[in-house]
Amino acid sequence: MALAVGLGACLTGCAGDGDEGRIVLLPPPAQRMIDDGNAPADDLVEVWVCRVPDTTTAPIYGDLPLRQPLDPTVIVGQIGSRVTDYWRTVSGGRYELSFAAGGVVDLTDAEDDADCLSHALDRSGPTATVVLAIADAEHAEGQVGGRGFPGNAPNCDGCAAAATRRGVSIGASDFHPDWGPTPLLDLIEHELGHTIGLPHSGDGGPGDDPYTSALDVMSNSAAPRTVDPARRDGPSTLAINLFDVGWLDPDDVETLDGDGDGGEVELAPVTAADGDSDGDDGTRLVLLAVDDHRVLTVEYRTATGFDAHLPESGIAVHLVDDAAGTAIERSQVPVHTSRPPFTDLLGPDGSLTTNGWTIDVVEVGATARLAIVPTDR
Ligand SMILES: [Zn+2]
Repeated sequence: MALAVGLGACLTGCAGDGDEGRIVLLPPPAQRMIDDGNAPADDLVEVWVCRVPDTTTAPIYGDLPLRQPLDPTVIVGQIGSRVTDYWRTVSGGRYELSFAAGGVVDLTDAEDDADCLSHALDRSGPTATVVLAIADAEHAEGQVGGRGFPGNAPNCDGCAAAATRRGVSIGASDFHPDWGPTPLLDLIEHELGHTIGLPHSGDGGPGDDPYTSALDVMSNSAAPRTVDPARRDGPSTLAINLFDVGWLDPDDVETLDGDGDGGEVELAPVTAADGDSDGDDGTRLVLLAVDDHRVLTVEYRTATGFDAHLPESGIAVHLVDDAAGTAIERSQVPVHTSRPPFTDLLGPDGSLTTNGWTIDVVEVGATARLAIVPTDR
């Protein structure tokens, strides 16, 4: 681990007693998240509908007979303000969506969800930065519910989706009349997360899509609905994702590099952001260096708001690994428990030793106090 003798303040937060004055560098995977830029400050999502012919031969639609009378303008009214509120809240006021109606694409028999999105992107307006293409047919059993793509410029402010190819395609299931006036929103929220470069989390290997974690909209986005059938939005997302896309102040992140003594850390809830950048939200993410590609992340998740489905508040720890790739290729595996859906968080007196670190929970209340020390490696 790199160690520099500090001349001034610690760059990413000081380590504990006895380490004052040391400059602790960001772990390499975290530095790469900084280097690859932030999410745009805002996006204009243009909504398109793809009409799937009854005679389709595309496996994604199977031979499901249902066709929904979807209208882009109606969909904007159904989902626009809710999905905007979701990301505004999760980002702490740093990401603002707006929605506009695009048009309708008529697919040929052989065309599938990729063609649906491609045609919609080709026809999208110059101010649209993301396209949301929704088929009027459901996706068949065993097929993906949706796909989201960061395109070739996930961080580009104001860049036209027709050029960047940032977009989402989903089937009609979330708009089934049985769901009532508000469609399901969590899958759309999940796929929009991919358009800003967020990866999956859960216990699968790189490239797997296990969707096993109830802690992250980028895993099992439907987890809140298994607890409360009225829920439409996904859970919030992992603190490392907020860090990745620029929604956490550097002052709100503390790094321990393993060369110091460790120390006691007071963690504010991940969702404590008040939307300004005056650095008064408290520490909301602790990064524990592991090696060139791996870092442990420690965060305090509270059973409130979009996370009201959690059985209790507590500490979540993930092993983040970018050896297989950065952004949507990154793996983010919960390690505070091995059992899905990973809602058994570390509570008072909880302790975890993993990947060269021991994390002891001292207190869980309005904030959480932790004692974190490096162990033998
Ligand atoms: Zn996904």
